[in-house]
Amino acid sequence: MNTPSLAAAEPPLLLDETFPETRVLFGMARAEVAQLSATRAIAEQWAAIADTLREASDFPDVFVENLRPTDNASELAVRAAAADLAVRLGMTENAVRNHAHEAGLLRTRTPHVWAWFREGEFAVPNARTVADLVAHLPEDAWDAFDTAMAEHRLLAPPRFRARARAVASRLDQATLTERHQRAAKERRVWMEPAVDGMAWLNLHLTIEQCRRAFATIDRMARNLQVPGETRTLNQLRADVAADLLGGVLGSANTRGTGVSIAVTVPVMTLLGLEDTPGTLDGLTPIDADTARRLAGHAPSFTRILTHPITGTVLDIDRNPEHIPADLLRWQRFMHPICDFPGCGRPAAECDIDHTIAKADNGTTTDANVGPLCRNHHRVKHHTKWSLTRDATGITWTSPTGHTTRGDPPPF
Ligand SMILES: [Zn+2]
Repeated sequence: MNTPSLAAAEPPLLLDETFPETRVLFGMARAEVAQLSATRAIAEQWAAIADTLREASDFPDVFVENLRPTDNASELAVRAAAADLAVRLGMTENAVRNHAHEAGLLRTRTPHVWAWFREGEFAVPNARTVADLVAHLPEDAWDAFDTAMAEHRLLAPPRFRARARAVASRLDQATLTERHQRAAKERRVWMEPAVDGMAWLNLHLTIEQCRRAFATIDRMARNLQVPGETRTLNQLRADVAADLLGGVLGSANTRGTGVSIAVTVPVMTLLGLEDTPGTLDGLTPIDADTARRLAGHAPSFTRILTHPITGTVLDIDRNPEHIPADLLRWQRFMHPICDFPGCGRPAAECDIDHTIAKADNGTTTDANVGPLCRNHHRVKHHTKWSLTRDATGITWTSPTGHTTRGDPPPF
């Protein structure tokens, strides 16, 4: 994996495929050549993405229209272009922007690494490590970092990362205090879905904040270790943390958080006749028992029965300024996330977009409204992205003419 060079293989005396030794050598050579081309192709893709986003920024008219005087044309054009690339490449827009960012850093700050990468002789994870670290290095350290990383390029990713971190911290003249202040600015909270109806909630905090939070959770969990308590210390800590952070699944402590969660329950499940799973917010599958429990008892949940769905008020032109609760609930069920293909932003955090604007006689009906996150709402209104809705669903057309169908409803 470290040596993409073909020269390493000692040729057998007889290149005869009837010998297993020969076939094995051919197999290894094929794998090495494939890796070389794959890495080259990735580098070329990053470069193409970076170049395209730069064109969008320099020549925004290719992508934008209907701008207001306060709009930043370049910024909107880059959004529209990133969305266009994301749909064509089947990637998230974040991935598109990251690749452009990484290519930009490698090209300008570590040209030797970039050159090896373009040749296919610098592993992709190692290139990402270099981009990640050089982003935080002061300008006078770039050259030395570039040289050192090019020298270590054949190390396997975990060893490469350790070496690269060591070199970077040696080259970074900033004091520990400055580095800590810089790192503390990166604190954040994020969620990662896992399998079997689980997920991770990650907090990246200062060590003091972490210690304090953990000590509190640990103390409260230990206080709950009374005779008869069957949960393990780990389980107690997890439940305590979930309660403290306002988790709605942890316990009954859900009032007053202002969080509304839609729980979707198949009606046959609710009646106890079947065990078809339900969903939370139309996305996360939950087992039948949990779905029944939440639908039955938790007041902070919006309950949605998946069948039969009738009697939903969809025609409400009499009061076009207002999106009625029924329509909103129906919408959240049919469109649990932003209507832009590939976007994962939950509908609860989205704007409700009128496909045909109310000013152009668009109606506030299910056929004409849908959730768009703030980003994609702006992209739709101020760039050349366009959207049509009809009985069969949603079609998006990109500024460069690529069409794509919206994701189907969740059943
Ligand atoms: Zn979106």
